[in-house]
Amino acid sequence: MVPFLTLQRLTKTFGTHDAVADLSLDMPSGEILCLLGPSGCGKSTLLRLIAGFETPTGGAIRLDGTDLTGLAPHRRPVNMMFQSYALFPHLSVARNIAYGLKGLGRSAASARVDALLRLVRMDEFGNRAPETLSGGQRQRVALARALAREPKVLLLDEPLGALDRGLREETQGELRAIQRRLGTAFVIVTHDPSEAMALADRIGVMDKGRLVQIGRPETLYERPVNRFVAGLLGDVNLIPGTVGETDGALVRVETALGPVLALGEGAPAAGAPALVALRPERIGASPVDPMATGDRNALDGHVEASTYLGDRIRLQIRMVDGSTIRATLPAGAGIDGGVPVRLSFTPDAATVMAA
Ligand code: ATP
Repeated sequence: MVPFLTLQRLTKTFGTHDAVADLSLDMPSGEILCLLGPSGCGKSTLLRLIAGFETPTGGAIRLDGTDLTGLAPHRRPVNMMFQSYALFPHLSVARNIAYGLKGLGRSAASARVDALLRLVRMDEFGNRAPETLSGGQRQRVALARALAREPKVLLLDEPLGALDRGLREETQGELRAIQRRLGTAFVIVTHDPSEAMALADRIGVMDKGRLVQIGRPETLYERPVNRFVAGLLGDVNLIPGTVGETDGALVRVETALGPVLALGEGAPAAGAPALVALRPERIGASPVDPMATGDRNALDGHVEASTYLGDRIRLQIRMVDGSTIRATLPAGAGIDGGVPVRLSFTPDAATVMAA
């Protein structure tokens, strides 16, 4: 990867509190990077540092070979779009978009506004007042305005936060399509994991000012580095155990439910306490066959509750040590409440992490 935007050991301290703590990352040009994390983890502060609205306590920001760290916001080839959109109510849609284009000649600015209106599919709306637009349309105008000066990086703080659920999903696809057409790097802050997964080329998970893990959505979902990332991206079973021997790419973890074979990548050393992370949909369940022995990754339990969800059923299984495991099976799997079941999964479905 050729780094385009580089954050080097960036720190921002308010009083005694590190809102962003020693955070480094590289981003290639043309990428959508989503910053994901709970409220207060420092996502907005990180965006504001890149935009230049905050001065870092330590560290540096480089973009396309230039050190931005000491530059004023308006000198940076970067723009920010806020959740509130902040459109000027007394200006038409076209004039809102043209606002940032002072310095361009009249006809060049007007051609640029037309191109931006087409880009966000608002060509018919140039003369309208913002208050006459729907939430989704306002969002598109704000996006066009933020893109008017062709920033090298667009920073978006909860860009879809003001939209209701259905419109949000539709707009996610549009936002991605527009970004792909332009090739501008987007850094998007969200606290919604499903939004991050739908939008991002890579997700950076933040916790308490730190970057905990960065990678493709699939990587974070399938191979989270710790329980925080695992739980943030979806439901997960965490089975405690002790790391045993390694066999090639696989590692054996001794648990109260029996031995579990998992992919060894990232696992702590032999003898260390560990957690086996297992997504409910990666678990299979079948009635216990008393004749079957020696199955790999076969854990026995009792179906305590079975919930029909239309396309799937969700099982809550009471295990031999009293713990519960959640499994999600295709509808029609034919497993009823109250019956003994054997849970099974392949080693690549399980991730081992430090306890
Ligand atoms: P949210 O999702 O709620 O917007 P966030 O992840 O964007 O949260 P930030 O707004 O970056 O979090 O805030 C990170 C931490 O820094 C919080 O504890 C916040 O209270 C603190 N903080 C942010 N700005 C300031 C400021 N100007 N002065 C003092 N503390 C601040």
